[in-house]
Amino acid sequence: MIHAYAAQEQGGKLEPFDYDPGDLGPEEVEIAVEACGICHSDLSMLDNEWGMTTYPLVPGHEVAGTVAAVGERVTNLKTGQRVGLGWQSGSCGVCEWCLSGDQILCPHAEATIVGRFGGFADRVRAHCRHVIPLPDALPTLSTGPLFCGGLTVFNPLVQFEVKPTDRVGVVGIGGLGHLALQFLDAWGCDVTAFTSHPEKADAVRQFGAHHVLDSRDPQALQPGLFDLILSTAPANLDWPRYLAALRPKGRLHFVGIAPQPIVAPVFSLISGQKSISGSPTGSPATLASMLEFVVRHEIEPAIEVFPFSQVNEAMEHLRSGKARYRIVLKRDE
Ligand code: NAP
Ligand code: ZN
Repeated sequence: MIHAYAAQEQGGKLEPFDYDPGDLGPEEVEIAVEACGICHSDLSMLDNEWGMTTYPLVPGHEVAGTVAAVGERVTNLKTGQRVGLGWQSGSCGVCEWCLSGDQILCPHAEATIVGRFGGFADRVRAHCRHVIPLPDALPTLSTGPLFCGGLTVFNPLVQFEVKPTDRVGVVGIGGLGHLALQFLDAWGCDVTAFTSHPEKADAVRQFGAHHVLDSRDPQALQPGLFDLILSTAPANLDWPRYLAALRPKGRLHFVGIAPQPIVAPVFSLISGQKSISGSPTGSPATLASMLEFVVRHEIEPAIEVFPFSQVNEAMEHLRSGKARYRIVLKRDE
């Protein structure tokens, strides 16, 4: 039996929940969970904000641990090896997207916490393609947040070939945002943090921001400054102003899930040849190269640790907006 924490209803408390995972599939890996980050998406899934939650829900998709068992056809991982698992736990492996390395775009993609049980548990399973070894230099406790939060903000730098000379704004400095600042600074960019919490300014500069602005102050946004604005905020902001703050050929890119549709003036898109876009977490090869980049540049998630037994307190801490900057649940001693 796997011992997990599950919510039985929308917004419900997470309670101990045991389930029988059945036989291990031939290409499956079972991970003994040491630690698991809490992403804002875990909260959104708990609240069924996207209408795709099934209950009981076992959240958790920033897993770090060791391989406990491998299926008979698994050749890339060994028992005892340190690994991580993020949002995606499966893909078909044969569609045009999988074959071209874009497994995250696979129409048959399986997400770790959608219609299956995630990492708030002592063990979790996934397809071997989506279980990625941890480099020796990275500690197990703080590495889980890179598997969703980190990958989601690293992926756009790769997808859109962000240049070291680019001026980039990051909106919302939480779990994703504080990692985006570290990546962009190491990438060589001129980095501006947009935060709604001015008291974060000192920490935000330490993460690598060269400038700090108020994300909700329309006056803070001067026209024509940025090549890329990356929004991680699960919020409705004044997007037309952010669009105006882009330079020609600039991009307003969403990884944070703004709850309302975005209204954008088409004239501004056309005249400045600007783009509005979004992206999901990222594919396994991008994840592996991100981990190399993290080691090389000594990037580190700033974490607050709670034992699994305090999972509800941890979720409320995230909900209150007080997390600094990623909460990690750790196996109880
Ligand atoms: P988080 O730790 O809660 O951080 C979100 C940050 O957004 C907050 O720290 C806050 O930053 C800002 N924010 C929140 N509410 C705001 C408001 N009303 N107005 C202005 N700013 C606000 O969340 P996270 O884990 O980083 O996740 C961020 C978003 O990304 C969520 O929507 C999550 O579901 C999504 N996500 C998407 C993907 C993907 O595949 N695209 C993957 C992971 C997560 P300041 O205090 O600095 O203002
Ligand atoms: Zn996530």
